[in-house]
Amino acid sequence: MGWFDKLTRPRRDVPSDLWKKCPACGEVLLIKDLAKNLYLCSKCDNHLRMPLWDRIALLTDDNSFVEINSNMRSLDPLEFVDSKPYPERLAESIQKTDVNEAVTTGRATMSGVKILLGVMNFEFMGGSMGSVVGEKLTAILETGVAEKTPVVIVSASGGARMQEGIYSLMQMAKTSAAIKRLNMASIPYISILTDPTTGGVSASFASLGDVNIAEPGALIGFAGPRVIEQTIRQKLPEGFQRSKFLMEHGMLDCVIHRRVLKSTIVRILRLLCN
Ligand SMILES: [Zn+2]
Repeated sequence: MGWFDKLTRPRRDVPSDLWKKCPACGEVLLIKDLAKNLYLCSKCDNHLRMPLWDRIALLTDDNSFVEINSNMRSLDPLEFVDSKPYPERLAESIQKTDVNEAVTTGRATMSGVKILLGVMNFEFMGGSMGSVVGEKLTAILETGVAEKTPVVIVSASGGARMQEGIYSLMQMAKTSAAIKRLNMASIPYISILTDPTTGGVSASFASLGDVNIAEPGALIGFAGPRVIEQTIRQKLPEGFQRSKFLMEHGMLDCVIHRRVLKSTIVRILRLLCN
């Protein structure tokens, strides 16, 4: 019956809408089970990347999320073309993800605590930060000042969006300045760093929280490990750029399991707001 087993066994290398392979242990996981289990691997507890709306559901009270600026879309200020024109890439991402940009922002409550929330979407052009991402995040930070409401931002990003060049890099300064104004008004800002948070996002708003919280195993850094190894001509230590290593070296305040992420944020907000 060997041939029959071979036919019926799930084929591990075939990408499918039903299955996902855990990148840490190689276990084949059913997507519908994964969704029920908060995208945690049932075998090794690895934190897989969480889709946008599952993340919003994880953090907010049922039906409390009201989106802001959902229609804001990027222009093409540089008329940038790589292997295809930038507007074409944008249209593909909009089609694929059903949202208009790499960040979704809005108002919500977390165990009854009012917050302004921004969640980045890695599926949308690698969660890259263009001018709309910067503008939408700045808008919730400024609303936070005006309405005296704490801000929570969940990052997942490859960094700046090269198709917007300097306009993209300017968002680092813009979001950082908006966070400074929130600080001066004594309103809390909590940054959640998920896998992966890199480049200009890690080097701006993702690292500027009053409390910086990462998920276990998340890759966090500015440049990739290969680039650093080539530059310094040294082998990097084990676990370099993973959240545990970064916490041990003072770059993060805590690494929190996804199951207790919401309750931890709520506890911190209640402490800081009182
Ligand atoms: Zn696993």
